[in-house]
Amino acid sequence: MNKLVYSFSEGKAAMKDLLGGKGANLAEMANIGLPVPLGFTISTKACNMYYEKGQEIWSELLDEIFEKLSELEKKINKKFGDKDNPLLVSVRSGAKFSMPGMMDTILNLGLNEETVKAIHKNTGNERFAYDSYRRFIQMFSDVVMSIDKYKFDNIFESIKENRKANYDTDLDADALKEVVSRFKTLYKNEIKSDFPEDPKEQLILAVKAVFRSWNNERANIYRRINNIPDNLGTAVNVQSMVFGNMGDDSGTGVAFTRNPATGERKLYGEFLINAQGEDVVAGIRTPQSIEKLNEVMPEIYKQFVQVADLLENHYKDMQDIEFTIEKGKLYILQTRNGKRTAFSAIRVAVELVQEEKITKEEALMRIEPSQLDQLLHPTFDSNALKRAMPIAKGLPASPGAATGRIYFTAEAAVEASKNGEKVILVRQETSPEDIEGMLEARGILTARGGMTSHAAVVARGMGKCCVAGCESIKVYEEEKKFIVNGKIYNESDYISIDGSTGNVYEGIIDRHEPELSGHFGQLMEWADEIRRLRVRTNADSPKDAIQAVKFGAEGIGLCRTEHMFFDEARIPAVREMIIAEDINQRKAALEKILPMQREDFVGIYEAMGDRPVTIRLLDPPLHEFLPHNGEDIMNLSREMKINYDKLKSRVEELKEFNPMLGHRGCRLAITYPEIAEMQTRAIIEAAIQVKKDKGIDVKPEIMIPLVGEVKELTFIKNIVVKLADKLISESGIELKYMYGTMIEVPRATLVADEIAVDAEFFSFGTNDLTQMTYGFSRDDAGKFIKEYIDKKIFEIDPFQAIDRKGVGKLMKMAVELGRKERPNIKLGICGEHGGEPTSIEFCHEIGLDYVSCSPYRVPIARLAAAQAAVKEK
Ligand code: PEP
Ligand code: MG
Repeated sequence: MNKLVYSFSEGKAAMKDLLGGKGANLAEMANIGLPVPLGFTISTKACNMYYEKGQEIWSELLDEIFEKLSELEKKINKKFGDKDNPLLVSVRSGAKFSMPGMMDTILNLGLNEETVKAIHKNTGNERFAYDSYRRFIQMFSDVVMSIDKYKFDNIFESIKENRKANYDTDLDADALKEVVSRFKTLYKNEIKSDFPEDPKEQLILAVKAVFRSWNNERANIYRRINNIPDNLGTAVNVQSMVFGNMGDDSGTGVAFTRNPATGERKLYGEFLINAQGEDVVAGIRTPQSIEKLNEVMPEIYKQFVQVADLLENHYKDMQDIEFTIEKGKLYILQTRNGKRTAFSAIRVAVELVQEEKITKEEALMRIEPSQLDQLLHPTFDSNALKRAMPIAKGLPASPGAATGRIYFTAEAAVEASKNGEKVILVRQETSPEDIEGMLEARGILTARGGMTSHAAVVARGMGKCCVAGCESIKVYEEEKKFIVNGKIYNESDYISIDGSTGNVYEGIIDRHEPELSGHFGQLMEWADEIRRLRVRTNADSPKDAIQAVKFGAEGIGLCRTEHMFFDEARIPAVREMIIAEDINQRKAALEKILPMQREDFVGIYEAMGDRPVTIRLLDPPLHEFLPHNGEDIMNLSREMKINYDKLKSRVEELKEFNPMLGHRGCRLAITYPEIAEMQTRAIIEAAIQVKKDKGIDVKPEIMIPLVGEVKELTFIKNIVVKLADKLISESGIELKYMYGTMIEVPRATLVADEIAVDAEFFSFGTNDLTQMTYGFSRDDAGKFIKEYIDKKIFEIDPFQAIDRKGVGKLMKMAVELGRKERPNIKLGICGEHGGEPTSIEFCHEIGLDYVSCSPYRVPIARLAAAQAAVKEK
């Protein structure tokens, strides 16, 4: 039978797909004997059929609804529309996933000119009867008929004014009758028919309105933000009303079984005497804290505490419970798993394990890995944020919260920072030359660029807050100002940026520093016990490496050596190398860089101890190191004492139409093997030195970027391995190192078996692999990918989460081919995806050995890797 409507006694918690979260939980509570007002649930299936049938309710559904209604009437001995003992119901939405406040609710349905009198007679409280009636008319008109709410508010306020009433509660029954009558007139004027008197008609109109609310704008937006599919539909819960506003022995409230902000195991909530649920939310009267209920109604409080315990034990999670007290009797209206901060989520999960209510695995699955970000970075004070003025929104490129003065160039940022100022670096977009300024800044804001733009990648690496691609701000770097919404912000003005939301604010906002509590450490320990994937970090400096080790990194998966080349002290020698006219000049310049590069590696090895360190040979196009405009070329030609024209023509020569697909990666080492030689020397000599001096068992792994053809790898191998072996044998020290490659050109995935002949390890560079598989420029895609997401062509940016169907398929093929040729080949990933939970799960599934991500994502990766392992079991 195609059953579409379920009384509470027919449902259970496991039926969330069909009954929605609220309906399933109401059924579950009713079945375990809790005092739940009786009712029934119209299923999500009915909602989907309603849409399939062109938004109409059909006769079979009507029959089923009325059948359940008459069952309900019999059970509670009240009747819809009855002149003596009328049934009133609430009609509420309830989807599978809770969408708080996103859909609609109608209370007191069933009231009309007759039943209102019966309510008066039965309760002896005329004011209550008419107060309920006017609330119903307003809610029904708003939710079901879309009449603007303010029109009702205006009438209500004018009657209050005429009757000199300060509070709603000052209006007596007569006044409320006037309200009802004027509301009905308004209804008739707007809808051109009378307010429906027939409760069954009211009910069906309300059910339709709840179905419709599944598709209202705020519900759609909520679903998009929270990745909830559009095709689930909502259920409709029809439940007999209980009233918290029937006098001083009545009331209503909401409570969490633990503190949703801190996780502390203590009831947390509030209640109001003589009120309906909406009064608590509306903030008209200030509710009292839940403990006070113990003073006002000790018996009820005791009963509520028992119910709360029972519900928490039953669901094995912190519950958010709504209750009503009607004439001294407690009713539970709703329970659901409570929403909570990351901090609270971790404490609750860990303590539930300690209380032996859930397993470690369950605790690990309860935490959304990306939530951990909230704990690792400073955050804005939530009260201060309420007062703050948002001025723009960009991409949340690197989490954290920063406040500081605006500077528009790296130099100005460095200068200001040296003078003790807090700096926000604002750029059109950043380039490698800005590194120092970025390092000194508290936060980075760019007008252009996506989630894998230079600013985003580097900021994440530094654990620095960054908002990228904030297109509504127009940056005038030369004039030291930016303009947004017509307002000008000048150098040294204060702004605040939130890298977790992408919001930009005017002025200063107070912040909280992160605190890594014992619960956090405990959870991470459990994650480490369970996960199979190792977690490494992408780090280019000892500082980042040390930070990453603190967060639990087990090695470096990517050290990008180009960042070292951009160091202020080295740039002259690097430029000398680039414009050298012959190999001898170039070698002389490289000689100057060698000791500095060696020192870099010494620092990194010392920071990492005996953990593996993957160092990638130089990758960026050379022109990035040279000045671009005439004035800068002139200055450099003076500095270097070389001819302006010669320098200019070298700059021209190096210019590329598409540098991302140009002379970079291993292609550089093929043209200039001396660069690879110098880097190998620095890597190996530093390792020998650290092993000799500190006795550390250093484990370097030399990695060649952008290989697409095995002969590229072989060519460079002949240089690197020959030199490395020579240096090691001359040193008389035993040192093991590995030689491997990045897999980031699609062709490499197709010929991975050939490549594995020469490579002892593969590291997937999924930034470039995504760029080249889709043909989307990493630096430009940010401009249009949002459109793809809005138009539902992409669910998520493929630069953020691995595109399993395409890029993922290539990876899988490379894994299989690589292992076929070399069964013990070491496999990892070092693209940005290595820190993204769903991509980490994929890496687990295809059998990689490790993921590598920026230091601040290491704990997230540890948890995501553990979750992947739990899911597999
Ligand atoms: C990659 O392409 O994924 C990668 C890690 O290298 P980069 O981002 O430096 O190009
Ligand atoms: Mg790359």
